[in-house]
Amino acid sequence: MALPRFLNFASRALAIDLGTANTVVYLAGRGIVISEPSVVAMETHNGVRRVRAVGAGAKLMMGKTPDSINTIRPLRNGVIADLEVAEQMIKYFVEKAQGGRSRFSRGVEIVLCVPSGSTSVERRAIRDAASHAGASQVWLIDEPMAAAIGAGLPVTEPIGSMIVDIGGGTTEVGVISLRGLAYSQSARVGGDKMDEAITSYVRRNYNLLIGEATAERVKHEIGTVKAPPEGTGLIAHVRGRDVARGVPTEISLNQAEIAEALAEPVARIVHVVRVALERCQPEIAADIIDEGITMSGGGSLLRDIATLLADETGLPVKIAENPMSCVALGAGSALEDPDYRGALHPV
Ligand code: ADP
Ligand code: MG
Repeated sequence: MALPRFLNFASRALAIDLGTANTVVYLAGRGIVISEPSVVAMETHNGVRRVRAVGAGAKLMMGKTPDSINTIRPLRNGVIADLEVAEQMIKYFVEKAQGGRSRFSRGVEIVLCVPSGSTSVERRAIRDAASHAGASQVWLIDEPMAAAIGAGLPVTEPIGSMIVDIGGGTTEVGVISLRGLAYSQSARVGGDKMDEAITSYVRRNYNLLIGEATAERVKHEIGTVKAPPEGTGLIAHVRGRDVARGVPTEISLNQAEIAEALAEPVARIVHVVRVALERCQPEIAADIIDEGITMSGGGSLLRDIATLLADETGLPVKIAENPMSCVALGAGSALEDPDYRGALHPV
């Protein structure tokens, strides 16, 4: 396989972690330069559709738009759901990463992180989106591999290590040894399913309709997988529309309720990890006893999820140092460090 030659282009190369929830961009020679929600606000005016806002600005509009504006998350389930919008988003971030100088953005080499389970059709779609956004050359890297490199795991050695990345749309489990993925699995459960679980809990128990942004805020503020002792713990105030009366209403939620609401998606995540442990080769499983499991992704920040995973597997579990940027950091290392370059695949 021809190895990518980046050295001459080092300053013209980007690694992009195009996450279902957040996009993180690494600029060669600089490091992380962008970390923003993967959201695009599209405005339709006289039948013409154009980009109104991208990233943080677009996320603020979610759930609050007039009919003419649509906020879109082009990657909802870990793959590109809306190609046209994904392209616009990549283009925006590529230009922004280079200081907004659109005339320079053509000819840049781009490494994109893809879920390990993505099909060749999905891989080509993402490559095309990057090419249309101005990339002269596109390389792909498997997300679990990038996360493992970014988390500082010994991926080049004959030592098995396990990474569990909980993102917005998917949870990726990867077992890496000798620069390769010995096992990988991508499951469609992550932060979004947790938000949905909170939304339906509130609807079921309080007859209250809440928006996606509210559910996510509650998860950040008081989200946990373990109910605290009765009478202790945090409270979140939640506003929405009462289903029966149709009026805006405020209620408060405690952490025991959130732990109950999140039980189902969290159990699914634990299950994916258990299956991975059952399926990996015995020698590698033996290494994981010593090395433990490393978690990354925004979902790893949910209170007590690492402790729960440790209890459920009997293995040591730690959270990567930069859980939300370690995929982009790992992809950036693959771009810059010859030791890791073999992790990049041409498409
Ligand atoms: P992706 O790679 O899919 O873009 P990220 O790794 O950026 O996803 O993680 C985003 C998810 O992590 C979102 O669902 C977000 O709500 C969740 N998240 C971020 N911080 C926290 C936190 N402190 N507690 C619980 N969930 C969190
Ligand atoms: Mg991710």
